[in-house]
Amino acid sequence: MPDTAIPPTIPTVPVTPAVLDALRAIVGDKGLILDEQGKQPFVTDWRGSLVGTAAVVVRPANTEEVSKVVKLCHDNGIAIVPQGGNTGLMGGATPWPTHQGILLSLGRMNHVLEVDPVGYSMTVEAGCVLQTLQETAAGHDRFFPLSLGAQGSCMIGGNLSTNAGGVQVLRYGNARNLVMGLEVVLPNGDIWDGLRSLKKDNTGYDLKHLFMGAEGTLGIITKAVLKLWPAPKDVCTAWLAVRDPQAAIEILSEAHAASEDNVGSCELMSRACTDMVLRHIPGTQDPLKAETPWYLLLEWSSSRPRQDGAEGMSEKMEQFLADQMEAGRVLDAVISQTEAQSRNMWRIREGVAEASRAEGPGLSYDISVSISKIPEFIDKGIKAALDILPTIRPYPLGHIGDGNIHFSFMGPKGMDRGVLKQYSPAITRAVNDLITSMAGSISAEHGIGIEKLDELAHYRSRIELDTMRTIKRALDPKNLMNPGKVLRLS
Ligand SMILES: Cc1cc2nc3c(=O)[nH]c(=O)nc-3n(C[C@H](O)[C@H](O)[C@H](O)COP(=O)(O)OP(=O)(O)OC[C@H]3O[C@@H](n4cnc5c(N)ncnc54)[C@H](O)[C@@H]3O)c2cc1C
Repeated sequence: MPDTAIPPTIPTVPVTPAVLDALRAIVGDKGLILDEQGKQPFVTDWRGSLVGTAAVVVRPANTEEVSKVVKLCHDNGIAIVPQGGNTGLMGGATPWPTHQGILLSLGRMNHVLEVDPVGYSMTVEAGCVLQTLQETAAGHDRFFPLSLGAQGSCMIGGNLSTNAGGVQVLRYGNARNLVMGLEVVLPNGDIWDGLRSLKKDNTGYDLKHLFMGAEGTLGIITKAVLKLWPAPKDVCTAWLAVRDPQAAIEILSEAHAASEDNVGSCELMSRACTDMVLRHIPGTQDPLKAETPWYLLLEWSSSRPRQDGAEGMSEKMEQFLADQMEAGRVLDAVISQTEAQSRNMWRIREGVAEASRAEGPGLSYDISVSISKIPEFIDKGIKAALDILPTIRPYPLGHIGDGNIHFSFMGPKGMDRGVLKQYSPAITRAVNDLITSMAGSISAEHGIGIEKLDELAHYRSRIELDTMRTIKRALDPKNLMNPGKVLRLS
């Protein structure tokens, strides 16, 4: 478990044989996993560093089954940990080792219920894998923009519950901005039907936003109406060697007008991160052999198809890069000429989490500051960590258009996880104090889960924490819904 000082108190009512029989009557045998080996992948987090327990993994097939399971647990005081693709990086989907209740997996609820290309919307079940939704939208000549490294296994219910970000936030917003309606099973088993395809709806509190980003602590998202956009038809991806992070934010600032508002993604990469991916992810190739510490992956896209003879995205990008070289911000650049080249650039960017898992123990901070403060934060943050552990290896990268840096460090070569862990509290405090002094956030897109439980309590104001507790207690007075995550109740 993480460096959290004291594990929170959570309900410990066990699943009795009678409750198990009742669960079996609801979901059938194929909806239950009872053997330890079968449960293992569900109770272990993606990084393999957190391992919890669950009496049983319950896999309902539809909303009615979810509702009955939740009501049964509510009536018996049994705690529930909801789970989608189990790719979350904060331990939100991993039960505590003291958990005696169930793990509720949404994986069987994986149907796309409706695609409305004219109304630009899609109604889906919570267990749909993100990549399947992107492909379904593309099959209707539409675009679902949520895009992240785990898209082959994360599920839309998990994406909405973590309010996921990813590489298209700059243009389309984060997960909560991509939703028109939700269906949610509340902690007492009631089904809230908010599955509306409305762009405008000012009828009281907007309840759907309570559940998005709540990490399963307020209810279980079972369905969603998602927004769609026109499919990109003219896409240009480039890999830039840039002078420094200050140059990177200035390039982005000028790219908006130069691309005629067509910037899709702008990802900052350090040389160290790029090299780490090249070391660990088979098939990746260095797009540019420039010896500079900083790179940008810049993508422009338009829904207007390329017209013969007319200037498209790549011609605009070429001119822009020439201007930026002239200004001394870009040192060298390559524009992808084939889909394979652009896929390679994206594989490098999206392979960082996988590569760092292979590289060894590290520390990672998912922070945000206002975009113009990114260079100052990177500079001061690296110095602060090196002051504490001079041989720690910085691996910064991030979604700079969102002010979001994955401020990561790999442990010094040869240092094992246990020793690095001793330095973790001091480095975490230094980094998070710096973020707070710069009016930033200690969790930009990954959430709180287990990992940042005490950090949230430390950095959010009493009024914010009390308001969150009031909401939690009103909706889940028995504290059965993902207990001990996000918020300490006392
Ligand atoms: C390689 C890699 C790259 C990543 N890149 C990004 C990135 O760029 N941006 C980003 O934001 N994240 C990223 N992540 C983190 C992760 O993929 C996201 O947090 C994702 O949204 C989690 O989805 P999931 O289905 O795996 O959720 P899970 O891990 O299963 O669950 C996450 C949380 O949501 C709750 N939950 C899950 N489903 C439901 C539901 N239906 N109802 C209620 N609660 C539910 C769980 O209890 C848990 O608290 C990355 C992870 C990996 C491994």
